[in-house]
Amino acid sequence: MSTNIIRISPTKVIKGEKAWSNSKKIIQGICKTPLIVGRSLKTKNIRDTLKNDLIDLGINPLSFELKHDCCELDIQKAYTFSKNNNCDGIIAAGGGKVLDAGKLIADLLSIKCITVPLSASTCAGWTALSNIYSPEGNFIKDVSLKRCPDLLIFDHSIVRRAPSRTLASGIADAVAKWYESSLTSNASKDGFVQQAVQMARVLRDQLFLNGHEAFLNPLSNSWVTVAEGCSLTAGLIGGIGGARCRTAAAHPIHNGLTQLKYKHKPLHGELVGFGLILQLYLEEQNSDSQLPKQAKSQLASFFSKLNLPVSIDNFDLDNSNSYELKKACEFACKEDSDIHKVPFNITEDKLLNAIKNHKNTYKNFNLSLK
Ligand SMILES: [Zn+2]
Repeated sequence: MSTNIIRISPTKVIKGEKAWSNSKKIIQGICKTPLIVGRSLKTKNIRDTLKNDLIDLGINPLSFELKHDCCELDIQKAYTFSKNNNCDGIIAAGGGKVLDAGKLIADLLSIKCITVPLSASTCAGWTALSNIYSPEGNFIKDVSLKRCPDLLIFDHSIVRRAPSRTLASGIADAVAKWYESSLTSNASKDGFVQQAVQMARVLRDQLFLNGHEAFLNPLSNSWVTVAEGCSLTAGLIGGIGGARCRTAAAHPIHNGLTQLKYKHKPLHGELVGFGLILQLYLEEQNSDSQLPKQAKSQLASFFSKLNLPVSIDNFDLDNSNSYELKKACEFACKEDSDIHKVPFNITEDKLLNAIKNHKNTYKNFNLSLK
């Protein structure tokens, strides 16, 4: 038996309506001079409130605003700022890319890390993993971190304020866990991986049952199940299942699609969701079974209700000529890509054909809601 180091979960997770208020004392025990890292102007007022709350507690927080997606340029600047000011912790408050940046800065400095997701768009608040992008938002690589965050604060009253589009994106990213892990890890003999795959199936079922109501009504019980499922359970599945449980084709296709230019930039889960539709399309082409076809149409119908893109035409591409699309497919199918872990052969030509041939059969997609 080989030895595996597994990073299952944050040291502490506080979730619920008043999670932030109930975490203040714990934060006091974790750091005295934290750096609050964030990005979007739209959420700056939330970070200001968090900062003032900490000052009231006698903590000395500093702020750092990131300029781009989680990129080396920003991380280097925040690293230097944090080091020069002797910060003893990072509080990352934002969406997935801000959380990834905060975790990586803390990891590089070997200081404490607290994640405060401001939306349910990904499980980045939970995991010991950061995705690195270029300043333009092109995916470069993912980095494994030494550990999961020291504290994850999932405050319902804060997350509920996020646009419903972020929840839909989180749902697409979370349902991907089942379709990706079952494709690559079904034959695993590792009990933990088997359990993680089953947990991903239960999560998918709950998202199918509750996702639409949660999307429409942030005050419903469904919203709590779905938001926690996307941000917490999805992270736990990745923690127990490990890298093999995370990706098949949908995430590598996402990585390729981030190489394109968009007029309106899609969210992580929006690209993963489309990648998932393509994964099932490719599976259908490589199988005599009707199951991938049925799964694809079930998923496309569900995604359409959440106003998630299900065809390349649903994205507001700035430049989508065949050459650009081919480059994106080349990136997704690089030699070391996880796309080659699926049990059939995916080449860049096959992927390009899938992107061109899979067309949206649902007419109710409305970009104006974006
Ligand atoms: Zn993801």
